[in-house]
Amino acid sequence: MGSEIEFRSELAVDFIDKMGHDPRLVLAWLAFPPAPPAAEAAQGSVKGRLKFLIDKRHGTPFECSALTVRVHAPIKVWREWHRHRVGWSYNEESGRYKQLEPVFYLPPPDRPLMRREGFKSSNPTLDIATPEEYDLLCASLKYGYRVAYGQYEVMLEAGVDRGLARDVLGVGIYSACYCTCNPRSIMHFLELRTEEAAARRPSKPLWEMHKVAKKLEAIFAEHWPLTYELWNAHGRCAP
Ligand SMILES: Cc1cc2nc3c(=O)[nH]c(=O)nc-3n(C[C@H](O)[C@H](O)[C@H](O)COP(=O)(O)OP(=O)(O)OC[C@H]3O[C@@H](n4cnc5c(N)ncnc54)[C@H](O)[C@@H]3O)c2cc1C
Repeated sequence: MGSEIEFRSELAVDFIDKMGHDPRLVLAWLAFPPAPPAAEAAQGSVKGRLKFLIDKRHGTPFECSALTVRVHAPIKVWREWHRHRVGWSYNEESGRYKQLEPVFYLPPPDRPLMRREGFKSSNPTLDIATPEEYDLLCASLKYGYRVAYGQYEVMLEAGVDRGLARDVLGVGIYSACYCTCNPRSIMHFLELRTEEAAARRPSKPLWEMHKVAKKLEAIFAEHWPLTYELWNAHGRCAP
């Protein structure tokens, strides 16, 4: 009861595991038998072949690898991330078997967050808050989080089902999730959830979604560098 609330701005995306690499995608396309030539041996021709696949939108070879990350982010991020149904497997921490940690999201001061004159929902452009505006926002969020978590603990103390007591908590509380996905669906996710001028079909994601997507993008780029480079050159459109 009366737990100390932790306020956090960090959005964490941590590498857990992966299966495959760029050459494996080509070997999958060629449907090589179980004892294929060493992936390294195919390296010389890998880039050209991957380019061919991306240019021709031959997408299924890009499903023949997988990446697992652990993401720790507020539930508002999960609401949007979980909309990506194809190619993704998720396991989120339970709010029924254990008490949720009192960790809540506060935007950092450099997060554009103020609607100004002429604001359009269809093309949202936000301004950085003044220190006064930022203080007001943080005070409101902190107040709401404290009241909500306090009532959550009152209900838990009274013996209310954890799966119901959590209803009082908003979408600013953090939750952790293991996410496993193939490169094709990762590219599709990044196309929609990053804001990049170089994209052929630019998107306007939520700021926090862009931040977590950029962290995922860095991990993807490290492990599938050729695919990543070609996808960028292709206007960041998934095959
Ligand atoms: C900027 C932005 C604003 C958004 N605003 C809203 C909003 O206001 N409200 C809201 O509800 N959502 C909103 N979304 C979520 C959006 O509508 C998608 O649900 C989400 O981006 C997942 O995309 P997806 O369906 O392409 O991905 P996935 O679910 O991973 O699907 C991948 C692809 O598979 C195919 N596919 C999957 N399921 C089907 C199906 N049932 N039938 C046919 N084809 C299918 C499609 O080609 C799809 O692109 C928004 C997304 C963005 C990026």
